[in-house]
Amino acid sequence: MDTFNLPSPLEKIDLSFFHPFNTNLFIKRDDLIHADISGNKWRKLKLNLEKFKQGRYESLLTFGGAYSNHIAATASLGQMMGVPTIGIIRGDELNPQSNDTLKKAAVDGMNLHFVSREEYSWRYEADYKNDLRAKFGNVWIVEEGGANFYGMMGCADIIRELTVQADYIILPAGTGTTTAGVLMAENRAKIIAVPALANGDFLREEIMSLLRYGGLTDEDIDEKNEQLILPTEFAFGGYGKSTTMLIDFMNQVYEESGLKLDQVYSAKAFFALHRLVESGIIESEKTVVSIHTGGLQGNQSIKDKLIFD
Ligand SMILES: *Cc1c(COP(=O)(O)O)cnc(C)c1O
Repeated sequence: MDTFNLPSPLEKIDLSFFHPFNTNLFIKRDDLIHADISGNKWRKLKLNLEKFKQGRYESLLTFGGAYSNHIAATASLGQMMGVPTIGIIRGDELNPQSNDTLKKAAVDGMNLHFVSREEYSWRYEADYKNDLRAKFGNVWIVEEGGANFYGMMGCADIIRELTVQADYIILPAGTGTTTAGVLMAENRAKIIAVPALANGDFLREEIMSLLRYGGLTDEDIDEKNEQLILPTEFAFGGYGKSTTMLIDFMNQVYEESGLKLDQVYSAKAFFALHRLVESGIIESEKTVVSIHTGGLQGNQSIKDKLIFD
């Protein structure tokens, strides 16, 4: 049985960038939860797996693109826990040999179904979900990226595990599910979610609707909305894109501290943290927890430019 490193470690980190500001910086190492399963993907799948078991479902079905960390994590966890998994993959030109993510998912026993972009766009529709149930049997359906109620609730544990009181908690956002979970947990820290994709302003509404779905009242949601800071200028050109500046930054962080960041998510959040401290938006002398959400798979395409692997 594989072991999970939980609660994930909280490490104090010393980086010269932050010295002039006396920032008291901690990293919540969700990247260390498991070697194959990207940290926050485990958080999002945990309660979905429990639902699966309680409901006596036949398999767990989910959705993703060709390079999805969520698909990789679901396949790997399914293999580990003896849960049959089905992956609906965007792109009917693909096959199980198309790239390393898909190859690994297939080896882990995920039943891969490649669908056209049009069909993929139906993934939130109730009729389509019923079609999937008719085709694949009694399946527990998990939304793309683990973005459902149970995914969100699993992420609240990140905050429950903290042993310091932070003034700010910073993390990257893709679907915003992890951010919603972090907001669900009671904490007086300001939450800074850094969109890893361009024009990330829409995420505020996504996060608030997840919270509404989580049963929060309008009043609570207003409060959470105030608590959330969403800086959208650190996407570096969009999802999966990066620049020399970002890569240099990743190398510098590694050189000074040994911490490995990934270009898709954690490097953008960490870079944002640096800039927000430098510009005084995060004031001097504050305690900050940066959540390392995991997954270095995203560095494949830039591995020649990095001083670590
Ligand atoms: C998927 C992923 C995210 C995005 O999480 P959301 O809950 O979708 O916002 C962040 N970091 C890593 C490493 C991921 O794999």
